[in-house]
Amino acid sequence: MFDIQKIRSDFPLLQRTVYGKKLIYLDNAATTQKPQVVINRLQQYYTQENTNIHRGAHFLANEATEAYENGRERVRKFINAQHKHEILFTRGTTESINLIAHSFVQRFVNEGDEVLISAMEHHSNIVPWQLACEIKHATIKVIPMNQNGELLLDQLPHLLTDKTRIVAVTAISNALGTVNPLKKIIQIAHEHHIPVLVDGAQSVPHARTNVQDLDCDFFCFSGHKMYAPMGIGVVYGKEALLNELPPYQGGGEMVKHVTFAKTTYNELPFKFEAGTPNVEGVLGLHSAIDYLEDIGFENIEKQETDLFQYAFQKFQQRNDVRLIGTAAHHAGVISFLMNDIHPYDTGTILDHLGVAVRTGHHCAQPIMDFYEIPGTVRASFSFYNTKEEIDQLFVALDRVRQMFG
Ligand code: PMP
Repeated sequence: MFDIQKIRSDFPLLQRTVYGKKLIYLDNAATTQKPQVVINRLQQYYTQENTNIHRGAHFLANEATEAYENGRERVRKFINAQHKHEILFTRGTTESINLIAHSFVQRFVNEGDEVLISAMEHHSNIVPWQLACEIKHATIKVIPMNQNGELLLDQLPHLLTDKTRIVAVTAISNALGTVNPLKKIIQIAHEHHIPVLVDGAQSVPHARTNVQDLDCDFFCFSGHKMYAPMGIGVVYGKEALLNELPPYQGGGEMVKHVTFAKTTYNELPFKFEAGTPNVEGVLGLHSAIDYLEDIGFENIEKQETDLFQYAFQKFQQRNDVRLIGTAAHHAGVISFLMNDIHPYDTGTILDHLGVAVRTGHHCAQPIMDFYEIPGTVRASFSFYNTKEEIDQLFVALDRVRQMFG
């Protein structure tokens, strides 16, 4: 049974007020609030378990190492990876993509080669490829989209040339809410023997992830967008490919043997985890996954789809908003503009009425250029939101309209 009151009471921050008003938190695509179990896990670690892992020879070190590695196994199971060592811990999606872009391009991309991304990527799935490709004099190509914010997949086979080395695409656009047909993209790319990296930052919290079923080659996501702490992220990579890639960072733990003349590297996953890792982040991520699985992804998807449909229909009925991103397959992220009111002005008034939304380009400037707009107002939902909160959003939008005439 999905008990919304019980769920809301799991999140301390949802109980607070801002400007003397009840907080309505609709900025979940930026980051999600944390349930008490995750907060408790961090406290337990620092009050009972804190030590560095892997290198210690004492009780606490062994205990913390085991908890950290259990976290890896929990993630493996959560996304249905084949092997535990295919799970690498990073700081977040941004670092995950930087890691793969850097190492993959170093290993597999040469002058004149191409990396294919899409028109709706977050900056963190654009700039790392640009940085890496610049060094190799390789080129970035882009899968275009239509005005609804849907990728033009009929163009994909023509964009994949004998120079394309990898396709990197988002599962869900954080700025448009578009859900991309990943399986189809991956299948077409694989027909051309080209690997695919998926930016799963926006999809993992909302729908079950199954990397083996998807058959993606790399999959990146962030803990903080899925109710876990900040500063923890994941790269999933197929074993064979990860084994081929050079390390991203050098330092402790990623080596087998070091001399001044030559260093040999550790095996997976340690080859890609230089230095002291974010132990507390992994433990918090473990708790967050347990929490999500307890609620159940069927319940999460149902609640979020209900909220999205409720809000989207209300938006469509208004003649004072322009929706940015009207893809047929759409997640709980709604981007819009009100009349000719600047998104920052709309956002500021909503904020003072207790409604937290995000305004701006959402780290996706090419999308804003495509629509020739400065930015959008974005409301994004979690299963802990309610229809009453969405009603309040619309009351607040009426106030914006009144104030701007
Ligand atoms: N990709 C997408 C689609 C995102 O929404 C975000 C976060 N807004 C990122 C990548 C980057 O995630 P992080 O800031 O957690 O590294």
